[in-house]
Amino acid sequence: MSDTQLLICGKNFKQEERDRLSAAFPAAFVDGPADIAALDAGLRASLRAVAFKGHTAFGAETMDLLPQLGLIANYGVGYDAIDVTAASARGVKVTNTPDVLSDDVADLAVALLIAQARTMIRGHAHAASGRWATEGEIPLNRKVSGSTVGIVGLGRIGREIADRLAAFKMDIHYTSRSEKETPGWTYHADVVSLAKAVDFLVIALVGGPETKGHVSRAAIEALGPRGVVVNISRGSTIDEGALLDALEAGTIAGAGLDVFENEPNLDPRFLKLDNVVLQPHQGSGTVETRTAMAVLQLDNVAAFLEGRDLLTPVN
Ligand code: NAP
Repeated sequence: MSDTQLLICGKNFKQEERDRLSAAFPAAFVDGPADIAALDAGLRASLRAVAFKGHTAFGAETMDLLPQLGLIANYGVGYDAIDVTAASARGVKVTNTPDVLSDDVADLAVALLIAQARTMIRGHAHAASGRWATEGEIPLNRKVSGSTVGIVGLGRIGREIADRLAAFKMDIHYTSRSEKETPGWTYHADVVSLAKAVDFLVIALVGGPETKGHVSRAAIEALGPRGVVVNISRGSTIDEGALLDALEAGTIAGAGLDVFENEPNLDPRFLKLDNVVLQPHQGSGTVETRTAMAVLQLDNVAAFLEGRDLLTPVN
């Protein structure tokens, strides 16, 4: 049997993140969960913790390849790739990296909303191409400040988005599983009612099977022709086919999206639209925040391997 207790699992780990983890604990490395079966059986038998980064499924069969597994430390707040029910059933703890990324994701949500409403992609192309001098101004766009926004999921990130948009003098509406202590903001029990009431619908839900298609075709229709969808949560939380239908038909005004159902392979229908602002799932992608996430992940691994309380457990 090997002495290595930590497995670093994910091809998207930066070299410095891998170095930091392996400097703390001797570690093996694989590109993703699918590569664990090919590891030497002696090594698999010694592994107690996995530092995981990625969106490919980490399920029960993978966990069963690691008989001593006690921790899956996820890099990211959203742990929908990990089967937490299967982990709990096996006594495996799961941790994530909440809070440290909320500011960045909320900043990007606001940026997407403004970029879509103010046609900033078109404006950039117009200025950068020289057409401004020859063709004159771009068409007028629409005012953001003072409009009405609906937040789907007033959790940590949803709350940060709402706080920012309140500073834009926007009327804040939201839906969550229960009403929050938010004087002056309007609670809706369901997404269709929320969508009917607002100009901008910002999705900040957790991903996973329970929220799949939560923003339904009916909710998208309820948003109406001036409605804009912003999604920084997961592609799965909205009915993506219905969203594409609405964007193509112009039954909503547009969308600002950081996440997609089949990312990084976007549905090609997105690429033909001129009423969207698309980002490559970079909500938490600043140097500062990714460093904080990596440190929190390592702190959870260290706490587990050294027998201390986990910092941010999810089960
Ligand atoms: P959070 O604090 O746990 O908030 C999650 C929200 O989802 C809450 O409002 C919660 O409702 C709602 N929710 C949870 N389960 C639900 C269910 N079964 N049905 C309906 N609503 C449900 O999480 P967070 O820290 O704000 O993060 C939210 C998500 O953002 C993450 O899970 C991740 O997928 C995504 N994210 C994306 C990026 C990016 O780069 N774009 C970066 C970080 C995170 P209640 O208010 O009723 O509890």
